[in-house]
Amino acid sequence: MTDTLTITRPDDWHLHVRDGAALEAVVPHSARQFGRALIMPNLRPPVTTARQALDYRDRIRAAVPAGVDFEPVMSLYLTDRLPPAEIALAAEAGVKALKLYPAGATTNSDAGVTDIRKTYKTLEAMQKHGLLLLIHGEVTDPTIDLFDREAVFIDRVMIPLRSDFPELKVVFEHLTTKEGAQYVRDAGGPHTAATITAHHLLYNRNAIFTGGIRPHYYCLPVLKRETHRVALVEAATSGSDRFFLGTDSAPHAAHLKEHALGCAGCYTALTAIELYAEAFDNAGALDKLEGFASFHGPDFYGLPRHADTVTLRREAWTVPETVPYGDAVLKPLRGGETLNWKLQ
Ligand SMILES: [Zn+2]
Repeated sequence: MTDTLTITRPDDWHLHVRDGAALEAVVPHSARQFGRALIMPNLRPPVTTARQALDYRDRIRAAVPAGVDFEPVMSLYLTDRLPPAEIALAAEAGVKALKLYPAGATTNSDAGVTDIRKTYKTLEAMQKHGLLLLIHGEVTDPTIDLFDREAVFIDRVMIPLRSDFPELKVVFEHLTTKEGAQYVRDAGGPHTAATITAHHLLYNRNAIFTGGIRPHYYCLPVLKRETHRVALVEAATSGSDRFFLGTDSAPHAAHLKEHALGCAGCYTALTAIELYAEAFDNAGALDKLEGFASFHGPDFYGLPRHADTVTLRREAWTVPETVPYGDAVLKPLRGGETLNWKLQ
């Protein structure tokens, strides 16, 4: 049995850090583990210009503890109206990607895209400048069952998009279904990849309902059936370079999750790499963790792999039940429970 695991420093390719006091509370948790994180742009108002992205990057850098190397990788929020000319400015500023939220799909997504064809001029500019398109892959059609929205998105949006923009690098974010995993592995073409969260590797939808409703397991896209979780574990541990780590850690104050209209999002950044280690260990695939966590992401983004390492040890420890979050508290996923891997 492996009791210590040393891997190249990992990156998180899908992270929400909010702004202000919330940002200051959560950034140190990610910076402790990861060398870089792709920062999601769904603030209010959303980050839609290169200038805003640079200012946001400065605020994130200011929250990184002294002596810690952590680089926020910035993205813009794609809207129906984002001008193609902004793409050249974004590329020049070091912005790496644009995030596509179908309007209304999740937290702060009401400025999102209503019809992807409205963004085609901007997508052409992205393809030309080598910026990635990061996709929240769910239709928002209210006649489609919540649990089927990712599979329907593949047929309605992903397949036509891939044939119209074969050279555009696309990341299918926070994959949740076996249909999604199959599509990325077999049909998406060489410029398609996907992030997978730790919670979708560890839990199926029963977690939301065990013994009563458990709001801290509610996220979007929602947890799916066990068959889907198994397919995601297979994809993540397959060694395929099309799959990489993205936590989708999404902090919300505990009182807004434990609420009649509870917010969607799991806070996993506190113990992210430990949660992934548990998922890979459960699958007997700890040897595949480094590729998934540390190599495939930077390779797809065209960034260098890190030169330093992190070490995890098999050691039972209890996750804090809450952590401070501005004037409120955050409840991390597995708070108060035991984890079997610990970052040294
Ligand atoms: Zn997200």
